[in-house]
Amino acid sequence: MANDLFINLLLLISFTFVGGHILKEAHESVMSKVYGKILIGIGGGILGILMMVYTIQVVGTNTLIDLRALSMIIMSSVGGLVSTIVAGLFIILYRVGYFGVNQSSIFAVVHICLYIICFHIINKKIKGYEKSWFAKLAVALTILVTTFLYLLRNVEGHYLIIAKFAIVVIFAGSLEYYLLKYTRRSNELYKIYRIDSTKDFLTGLNNTRSFDSLLNMSFNRVKENNKKLSCLMVDIDHFKRVNDTFGHPIGDMVLRELADILKKNVRNIDIIGRVGGEEFCILLLDCDKHRSYEIGLRIRDAVKEHSFPMGNDDNIKITVSIGAATYPDHVGNLEEILEKADAALYKAKQTGRDKVCESR
Ligand code: GH3
Ligand code: MG
Ligand code: MG
Repeated sequence: MANDLFINLLLLISFTFVGGHILKEAHESVMSKVYGKILIGIGGGILGILMMVYTIQVVGTNTLIDLRALSMIIMSSVGGLVSTIVAGLFIILYRVGYFGVNQSSIFAVVHICLYIICFHIINKKIKGYEKSWFAKLAVALTILVTTFLYLLRNVEGHYLIIAKFAIVVIFAGSLEYYLLKYTRRSNELYKIYRIDSTKDFLTGLNNTRSFDSLLNMSFNRVKENNKKLSCLMVDIDHFKRVNDTFGHPIGDMVLRELADILKKNVRNIDIIGRVGGEEFCILLLDCDKHRSYEIGLRIRDAVKEHSFPMGNDDNIKITVSIGAATYPDHVGNLEEILEKADAALYKAKQTGRDKVCESR
């Protein structure tokens, strides 16, 4: 008994790590959809079945002892109702299909149904991961112990068997609680670090590193599909004065709001990066020089008209200068597009600021 339950325990641990790793890479939007939950449920079903493969059949009975209840608790905690139902169906199909219909398998089906209902109610009523996990463990243990007391009533030494089993369930359930908590926490941190490494912390725009890689990807796409690509280099005029007059925190607020204005004035597919302290670069995909000039003007006007709030009743007004360059209209070589947009920005600064200049 100890050996097989030990294998059940190892299955639980390895599934938690492999599953946790898969969920770490999976996109949030997929996993929150119904088919994502179904996929999680299939994983839980497979775990439950494997546990039954390494099950312990109590001598002289059809009763199987294993930790499949824990796979149901995991499903309910990770994927909710849909995952629990899917995992439950897998377990029922295997239990009844492989071991046939008998008193024990009917109990097994009833167990699965009870788990689905009780765990769903616990998810709704009990908030907090820890409380709800141990409430589910208590429910599962009560159901199992009651059933075994009935099914094994004529087996010699059944109290001892049930007591040992209950201890293993409590131990495995507590261990799994900590494993899952640890896996969740490290997955959350991983996601935060991944975002932090590509996004500028102040504005949430692409940072220089991720902007560079998106730039290279855009270059490849433009070359492969013979498309146009425009680049707008945006720089705040006399931003040093804003900092000097109102302080750095207000300067930061201006940068954040400017980032929002830029986002609002381009399409979702366009790429914006904060490439310097108060300098932003926008890649307009499949956009010719006329359109990019118009977008440049639109951004310049939107910034000029915007009142940047200072927290009290006062507002700050700023302007931006913009340099524009388009491939292949202005530059024959894609790699020169940033340089040309920069040169156009320099011209805008030299000729009075608050304007859009195109590359020559
Ligand atoms: P110009 O019109 O020629 O662009 O003048 P400017 O003052 O905007 O340009 P300059 O390069 O002289 O100064 C840029 C300023 O941007 C200086 C720096 O303090 C400020 N800056 C850079 N990064 C940040 C930041 O993250 N937060 C704040 N608040 N200010 C920043
Ligand atoms: Mg500036
Ligand atoms: Mg600058």
